[in-house]
Amino acid sequence: MPPRTSIEEFRELLKSSNRVLALCGAGLSAASGLPTFRGAGGLWRNHEPTSLATPTAFKRDPALVWLFYAWRRHMALKANPNRGHYALAELAKKKDDFLCLTQNVDGLSPRAGHPEAKLKLLHGSILDNKCFNDNCDYIDRNNLSDPVCPALAPAAEDYPPGQTIPLLDPYVPAPSIKVEDLLHCPQCKTGLLRPGVVWFNEPLDKQMLADIDNWILQGPIDIMLVVGTAAVVFPAAGYTQQAIDQGAIVAVVNPDPESGEGLIDEDFFFQGDASELLPKLFEGVIGKMDEHGKIL
Ligand code: NAD
Repeated sequence: MPPRTSIEEFRELLKSSNRVLALCGAGLSAASGLPTFRGAGGLWRNHEPTSLATPTAFKRDPALVWLFYAWRRHMALKANPNRGHYALAELAKKKDDFLCLTQNVDGLSPRAGHPEAKLKLLHGSILDNKCFNDNCDYIDRNNLSDPVCPALAPAAEDYPPGQTIPLLDPYVPAPSIKVEDLLHCPQCKTGLLRPGVVWFNEPLDKQMLADIDNWILQGPIDIMLVVGTAAVVFPAAGYTQQAIDQGAIVAVVNPDPESGEGLIDEDFFFQGDASELLPKLFEGVIGKMDEHGKIL
């Protein structure tokens, strides 16, 4: 039997649910204009984004990695939270025992007013800068400067719609940036600052993981919402199984039919855009939402 698709049935379940866990991915921010990594046309210049998101890449070419992140930072700061972010933030305010785990680093959930205690930034934030030295714990949180430093100004330039952005054109040489002009750590004075995101092959914050495990083990979970993620990156992907082990019914929101594979008949699959579906799915709890994300 395929999973359920009835919005009405889901609304009833949500209304009567106490403990709800959500896992969000890049698809939640797609409607805000921020591309997913694995989506169409996924290259940045001629690089796989995932090949730039590693400590090895930063060691090899910190200026190139910073250009990539400075551009993504600029895009994130220019973007606005969408109705999906607002719906999740509103659900967090209405349900005492709701926890949202997001793989997104774009800062859009905090900007939508999602209560901090009910949001775990699994992969950090692109708006934080931290020291690359293993033995230095310096971190500059929520830095809104754009460009993040003068040398990275080419990554924060806007062009008229339709014009190819030179930075994104692999045939235009990348701006040459000297390592000494990148941000340096004001604490240890030796390390370079790097984006405060978790890169591939890096561990997630231990205390955050322990807090999430504690929440999961506190009792049965009624619903596991999986929004806009291919859920292939561990440990995030493992949370769905942990929630199922705690009795959760899974509800997947994603335009890709393959993301509903493995769901059973008591689960839900809503195929489509999270920014359109989430306000509808949560309406019975959060009320009706206007097109700007305000509750009417
Ligand atoms: P992914 O690129 O692997 O998957 C994105 C998922 O979103 C896909 O399953 C796709 O079908 C779905 N999707 C696309 N448009 C959607 C929409 N409008 N509504 C709902 N779903 C939609 O991304 P991932 O597995 O979430 O993340 C991989 C890693 O990349 C993560 O670690 C994340 O930190 C990072 N990342 C973050 C951002 C961001 O912060 N905005 C953007 C790109 C990548």
